[in-house]
Amino acid sequence: MSDAAENRDALSNLLKEERRFPPPPALAASANVTAAAYAAADADRLGFWAEQAARLSWATAPTETLDWSNAPFAKWFADGELNVAYNCVDRHVEAGLGDRVAIHWEGEPGDSRAITYAELQREVSKAANALTGLGVEAGDRVAIYLPMIPEAVVSMLACARIGAPHSVVFGGFSADAVSSRIQDADARIVITADGGYRRGKPSALKPAIDDALASCPDVRNVLVVRRTGEDVAWTEGRDVWWHDVVDAQPDTHTPRAFAAEHPLFILYTSGTTGKPKGILHTSGGYLTQASYTHHAVFDLKPETDVYWCTADIGWVTGHSYIVYGPLSNGATQVMYEGTPDTPHQGRWWEVVQKYGVTILYTAPTAIRTCMKWGDDIPAKFDLSSLRVLGSVGEPINPEAWMWYRKNIGGDRCPIVDTWWQTETGAMMISPLPGVTEAKPGSAMRPLPGIAADVVDDNAQPVPNGGGGYLVLTEPWPSMLRTIWGDDERFKDTYWSRWEGLYFAGDGAKKDEDGDIWLLGRVDDVMLVSGHNISTTEVESALVSHPKVAESAVVGATDATTGQAIVAFVILRGSAAEAEGIVDELRNHVGATLGPIAKPKRVLIVPELPKTRSGKIMRRLLRDVAENRELGDVQTLTDPDSVRRISFILSEGK
Ligand code: ATP
Ligand code: MG
Repeated sequence: MSDAAENRDALSNLLKEERRFPPPPALAASANVTAAAYAAADADRLGFWAEQAARLSWATAPTETLDWSNAPFAKWFADGELNVAYNCVDRHVEAGLGDRVAIHWEGEPGDSRAITYAELQREVSKAANALTGLGVEAGDRVAIYLPMIPEAVVSMLACARIGAPHSVVFGGFSADAVSSRIQDADARIVITADGGYRRGKPSALKPAIDDALASCPDVRNVLVVRRTGEDVAWTEGRDVWWHDVVDAQPDTHTPRAFAAEHPLFILYTSGTTGKPKGILHTSGGYLTQASYTHHAVFDLKPETDVYWCTADIGWVTGHSYIVYGPLSNGATQVMYEGTPDTPHQGRWWEVVQKYGVTILYTAPTAIRTCMKWGDDIPAKFDLSSLRVLGSVGEPINPEAWMWYRKNIGGDRCPIVDTWWQTETGAMMISPLPGVTEAKPGSAMRPLPGIAADVVDDNAQPVPNGGGGYLVLTEPWPSMLRTIWGDDERFKDTYWSRWEGLYFAGDGAKKDEDGDIWLLGRVDDVMLVSGHNISTTEVESALVSHPKVAESAVVGATDATTGQAIVAFVILRGSAAEAEGIVDELRNHVGATLGPIAKPKRVLIVPELPKTRSGKIMRRLLRDVAENRELGDVQTLTDPDSVRRISFILSEGK
């Protein structure tokens, strides 16, 4: 942790937001969850979660809710037994819903497939039989490195079905990133594909696995899906085709019940702040919260809604809100293989129109990119089916929120800004679309059954109007159980700062009503002339200027002020040639937040360094601004982007 973060007092609370958006009355009147849920959970938190666990089908119903006797190692529903895949697939078929479409899959080249729950049951059964045939037993780890194709979902569920924890590695990661994750999890089987389609052409995946496995001698078999049909190198005896091995299997499989605390998956965090951590999630508590939050926060009506989460399966959002949450709820969803601008910048909106998507869940980075491309693009499509919009991954700037509401949500859809992490497994802080009067840019308050607060250095809750560190004050069902193979790092990273509190690593403030605003990572907080200023607030002030699409702000060491604010700004399409824009932007921030927050330097850039999950990598921009060697760029989408920015910075001196 940086010195600035160590010595800080409350975060300066600069941004004021007066706009309010109450729930649409019709949605509120028929909402899945009402204000009564908060009251029920406040009165009996554990009782509330026990009730939510009953959403699932248990082979043995749990009689215990939480065992916290060995804190911070939690056990939830420990004497219960269930099969996660059965809950996501078979029980819907048994309930007569086998003909319901589970997945409308849309390939990037325009091919598509509709998969019903009955078909999903057959596919998952075949894959489970195949994995068993390859010697996979309960407890063995399976690495999955696939594009956004149905086999990704099938593979995850097949692992869950036989109790083999999966470790999904994002398909855009390099061979090094893959091999270190395979080694860390000690996976013996890898599921991959020849490739997938990205940006209009096949993008190979198998070569990265071939490279990665040079340093993973313990991997026995590689199961390869044919997607692009391109040539692949083949290691006889190790590599097997999915269509040979899986398709030949019987399409029935009897699921076995596992203990609620049986490991479900390991997932490495995005690596925005440093070395990724192997986050371990288990079965019963995880599925309970993924399922409940998906039902509550999106107000999912499985009979009529068409849900679409644009995340990749390689991120926790893909795990909880493409696979486990929606499928446990019997949802019909869209899954899209490719990039949003292939073959044109309206592709997402075309998909919404084609399938009549009613609930859309995406990330601020995507929303800001669409802002940059222009309002006229979504305007060409019929988006009237939409009724709830979601956001996750970073704080959403109030102006991006407004743009999303107006241009995508037709000024009628509530937006749920959902704060959570790989570690929390499921949503923690979010509006409820039928209950909450939303404020643009605020995640509002903890969901029913969740206890969060904002505290100061001494772990004291800050008063309304104050800022500090976001903490979780009570255990929750979908919490991480440990960092894979490293209990000490688990305790150190999350539980050592204050006794009994989970430290999320994020800064936050409470407004005058006590609603929570996320202010970015505490490591990113700037200390300017004795004030702690959040990068998020300065970025939001910049994005509130009509010519700005996106910005990243960092504090660079400065002899007089301690840290000086340096802003990197991407302009909206039409404003690219703007004259005098730098002074205009500095003054705009000064007028919006006060003179203390005025950036010392503003640099107009064509792009920002982002992780592959779309988050701005501020630590690298700080390296650039302070003329330091660049830190680890392994998880960047485009490692050259920082070098180009560094050039612009040296030109601008
Ligand atoms: P690493 O922990 O390896 O540095 P990461 O934190 O980016 O990577 P994730 O678990 O994918 O990995 O992201 C969780 C983080 O994303 C949160 O801690 C928070 O900083 C940010 N975040 C997610 N959703 C929101 C949101 N709605 N508002 C504000 N920040 C959010
Ligand atoms: Mg994190």
